[in-house]
Amino acid sequence: MASVEAEMTDNSKASNPYSRLMALQRMGIVHNYEKIREYSVAIVGIGGVGSVAAEMLTRCGIGRLLLYDYDKVELANMNRMFFLPNQVGMTKTDAAVQTLSNINPDVVLESFTLNITTVDGFETFMSSLKNKSFNPNSEGTGVDLVLSCVDNYEARMVVNQACNELNQVWMESGVSENAVSGHIQLLIPGETACFACVPPLVVASGIDERTLKRDGVCAASLPTTMGIVAGLLVQNTLKYLLNFGDVSRYLGYNALKDFFPTMEMKPNTQCSNAACMERQKEYILAKPSRDAAAKAKMDADSLVAEEFPIHSENEWNISVVDDDEPDKVSTITSGSLPVGIMHELPSADKFESDPAPAETSNPIDDLEDLRKQLDALNAD
Ligand SMILES: [Zn+2]
Repeated sequence: MASVEAEMTDNSKASNPYSRLMALQRMGIVHNYEKIREYSVAIVGIGGVGSVAAEMLTRCGIGRLLLYDYDKVELANMNRMFFLPNQVGMTKTDAAVQTLSNINPDVVLESFTLNITTVDGFETFMSSLKNKSFNPNSEGTGVDLVLSCVDNYEARMVVNQACNELNQVWMESGVSENAVSGHIQLLIPGETACFACVPPLVVASGIDERTLKRDGVCAASLPTTMGIVAGLLVQNTLKYLLNFGDVSRYLGYNALKDFFPTMEMKPNTQCSNAACMERQKEYILAKPSRDAAAKAKMDADSLVAEEFPIHSENEWNISVVDDDEPDKVSTITSGSLPVGIMHELPSADKFESDPAPAETSNPIDDLEDLRKQLDALNAD
């Protein structure tokens, strides 16, 4: 691997596949891009989102990818990106390894052709996530992040169970059955809501869900929506691993309105998942040391700010808002969901009545308001 590091650093050559990525470092966006070579990411579900996410991470020069799927490539998958007609009949994991190793032979690829929702599959899944890191320079467990790109509730609950047990940070992703909305979500055991803490949320598409879910009618899919959600997921992954920008806790996407709702979710103190409750206890116990570390960082930052005043004059009156304030995170309950987001599954007592109304009118109202304000401004 020494040659890869040398190649990564020598970023002036057009023949260097990493030159445009290393430019992120020269431009000050990323502090240390080469760190990406040390990271392992597990991708569960190599479908329309997972395969594209795997390709993006491979092109970015990720250290190691662990790929999990049990399905085979079908012609019906060709409306999505990544898989090729000549791969029909291969397992998705084998086909992915074939393509990804051609794109970037530097990435260590491990494929697991298994169903994580079976007893044996779950055991292998757990032990593969615990394997010793491939990188001799880093200590500890096997993976730095798990990406859930599965298409069903049961598999998400299995990823949630594994990650809560292993205290493993993960990101969840999803695309609606009508192919016009999706979301990504960051889950940090004990710190954010787990998948069992809050009923799963989806971005309202504005289409009546009752007209969609008919037995025997297969789900729709678009390469655009899946590519966008994969892009949002890997963007969040890069920000999380390489420590730049704001890492999204929840980011939704409504394709019909081009609407991107965001929110944060605290863990449920009565979560039904025992491992989640354990992680929540640990998180509360670690609060004093976390506060001390945050204070030390703030003191260090203010020292730097005193030594190097950026601008003594502030002609545009720009003020900096402290975004480290605790307790700005609101606990999400069914009554307090942000506009445009709703629960994916009806709660038991609401099952017989109408599903949650799709809140699509507010963005339009906002737009109308904005237009009126602009008209008023122009009239002056
Ligand atoms: Zn939970």
